[in-house]
Amino acid sequence: MQVLKFGGSSVANAENIGKVAVIVSKAIQKDATILVVSALGGVTDQLIEIGIKAATGNESYKEQIQLLEHKHLETVRALLHIQNQSATLSWVKQQLNELERVCDGIFLLGELSARIKDRLVSYGELLSSYIITAKLAEMNLQPVWTDSRQLILTNEQYGNATVQLEKTYANIDSFLARHPAQLYVAPGFIASNDKKYTTTLGRGGSDYSGAIFAAATNASTLEIWTDVTGMMTADPRLVQNPKPIEAISYQEAMELSHFGAKIIYPPTIQPVMKKNIPVWVKNTFEPDAAGTVIQQHAVTNNDIVRGISSINKIALLSLEGSGMIGIPGFSKRLFEVLAMRNINVILITQSSSEYSICVAINEADASLAQQSIDAFFAYEIENGKVNPVSVETNLSIIAVVGEQMKSHPGISGKMFGGLGRNGINVRAIAQGSSEKNISAVIAAADVKKAINVLHEDFFETTYKQLNVFIAGAGNVGGKLLSQLHQQMQYLKEHMRLQIQVVGIANSKKSILDDAGIDLTNWKYLLDQAPEADIHSFVASIIEKNLRNSVFVDVTANDTVASVYGSLLSKSIAVVACNKIACSASYANYKKLKSLARTFNTQFLFETNVGAGLPVIGTLNDLLRSGDKINKIQAVLSGTLNFVFNQYDGTIPFAQVVKQAQEEGYTEPDPRLDLGGTDVMRKIMILAREAGEPMEMDQITNEAFLPASCFEGSVADFYAEMEKQEAHFKQLYDAAQAKNAKLKFVAVYDKGIAKVGLQHIPADSDFYHLYGKDNLVLFYTERYPEQPLVIKGAGAGAEVTASGVFADIIRVA
Ligand code: ADP
Ligand code: ASP
Ligand code: MG
Repeated sequence: MQVLKFGGSSVANAENIGKVAVIVSKAIQKDATILVVSALGGVTDQLIEIGIKAATGNESYKEQIQLLEHKHLETVRALLHIQNQSATLSWVKQQLNELERVCDGIFLLGELSARIKDRLVSYGELLSSYIITAKLAEMNLQPVWTDSRQLILTNEQYGNATVQLEKTYANIDSFLARHPAQLYVAPGFIASNDKKYTTTLGRGGSDYSGAIFAAATNASTLEIWTDVTGMMTADPRLVQNPKPIEAISYQEAMELSHFGAKIIYPPTIQPVMKKNIPVWVKNTFEPDAAGTVIQQHAVTNNDIVRGISSINKIALLSLEGSGMIGIPGFSKRLFEVLAMRNINVILITQSSSEYSICVAINEADASLAQQSIDAFFAYEIENGKVNPVSVETNLSIIAVVGEQMKSHPGISGKMFGGLGRNGINVRAIAQGSSEKNISAVIAAADVKKAINVLHEDFFETTYKQLNVFIAGAGNVGGKLLSQLHQQMQYLKEHMRLQIQVVGIANSKKSILDDAGIDLTNWKYLLDQAPEADIHSFVASIIEKNLRNSVFVDVTANDTVASVYGSLLSKSIAVVACNKIACSASYANYKKLKSLARTFNTQFLFETNVGAGLPVIGTLNDLLRSGDKINKIQAVLSGTLNFVFNQYDGTIPFAQVVKQAQEEGYTEPDPRLDLGGTDVMRKIMILAREAGEPMEMDQITNEAFLPASCFEGSVADFYAEMEKQEAHFKQLYDAAQAKNAKLKFVAVYDKGIAKVGLQHIPADSDFYHLYGKDNLVLFYTERYPEQPLVIKGAGAGAEVTASGVFADIIRVA
């Protein structure tokens, strides 16, 4: 004998039932078969809805019954040849009339008891099994339909009844003996009790019915046919790349299903495990794919962790109090009261001081549990020995399952490390002593992120996904997006890094897409997007709560610079090309650095100093390896270097500045460059990175721009520069007279920083510095006389974008 069970989506309509019939017709050529079926997809939910409507006086239940009738009649019409339809159609109508009478009764009484609810939902499986039997009969497979309620006997716990296995097995045995056949069809989910009332085995219970038939007949296999190709390493609705599991042990499957893997109903495993019957999970829509086998010993592969699952709607109860220490029986009494109320305990932790016990239960049971526990411990609460039980809701449990875990240290380290890096707070942890399962209670809002983080860490050795949000879609932003677009495939193949741009914002609009924004089309998409400001963009980033999130600021905007703190404190990495945050007060800089450390994330701003040049990175490498900075000398303004390299008095100074601006080397307001502020910021950031708590007003600036240039708008500034041409010419001539070049140099020396225009003689390192190049000299204990030199283009959108890009990869 073999048992095949088909779930709701496998029998959702005539087309799918047709596929089922083909699978069954092949199966019976191998062995006698019991076919167990669910209700047509969605019907159980609809029946419950109908019952609730009727009980609450909402007459629309009648229309919904009509719809249900229509659905079943249509299925029969589409499934059977016209000459075979009438008997089945009239049987369906008769069932639905009966159903309507039951609902009218519910409506009149205004009450839906658990017992009547079971009666009501039983129509789903009765109808589906009968219709499918008619189809199989039409195919001449000679099916024998049986009412599972006559065979499967349970107690009186309606909605979730417990099966009396021995009696049930005997019933099944004798039925089969009395009706020899090659093919039987039975409705799943439903049973009855000693009083002959209909009961059900719990939502998803048709799997369990299948297991019962399999165990009763010592079947060779139980096949669970559903809509996915076997069990996967995680719920395919939650992760993008779940891996199919070829083989899994009974124990592992049981753990995964108990902790939420809906693919199999938890009680299913027990009866088949007892009889050592292998269970195959297969896909009705891909019948030739192997699927998963659940058996005594799973073949081991390289995966130490077998799967990850989660349960939502969890509440955490904590019972605490000094009176609990050392007194035996407290926990016994706690579990007694929960058992008395039929409250299922999913996870337990107790501190070793015995000062507190924590249990996780379903949220639906939380208020009953709270009342019952407080009443039960009323005496101890009154005497101050224990506190009233505290209840937290909106929680979920995630579980990492695998039998191999016990012989591999470091699994929980990896698990909690990954969660921590992503800012997921763990409320309680439990690890069974068998070490098949490590589970953790976390906020419900973090579940999807947590599952993805764990899945990536344990299974996706192929690549890690980085979710990037970009603020600023101008010059640098545009270049960055095209570089990202161009490099994506390479990074995926060579660095196992999948970079996904999931958000882009400019000053007016933003777009967001968890699946990754199409980078060939982002300009158009952003253009079409609704108005949004940076605060709503940041709120969405936080709410999305995606793993490995990086916020990239390629603006020069102070409002954008003010949001870093709120992101870092959600463990979202910040990469800034914007200098404002790091060059504002030292306290602000320090705070952001320490937030990054506290929340286990990164705050990177390499491009703040030398655009794409590795200046900050090199400085940090020196410091981290134990070197000490004696002096920094640098030309840090690509703009100023460009301007003084171009300017020789033949073209007006203002025009050279204009050209620098047009080529994208300057800040939006070029006075920040020309006035030396930008260079001051940069040398200050270097000083700060070297450990000096420096502020802007401690830096001496020997400015060369006449004060009148700082008045008015950018346009006024250009006009004023033209007027001051003689001043600039004179600066040039003075240097020329000494055979020197003009360079704007920043110096940091023993805690003191200054910036200013200098005459650079021909023998200086700075003399041969062309175009928009920057040059940084680090004099350190290891490089005392000949400095460590970093030289190259220090401005320009393309190199700045590549520096930002490098920081993004550094985050990964
Ligand atoms: P059926 O109606 O056939 O009984 P279910 O909806 O009960 O099907 O179970 C199948 C569903 O279980 C899949 O569609 C999938 O979304 C979900 N699921 C949850 N966890 C897993 C997992 N680890 N592997 C495969 N499917 C899973
Ligand atoms: N039809 C029932 C339900 O939806 C049983 C099942 O499909 O397994 O819960
Ligand atoms: Mg199911």
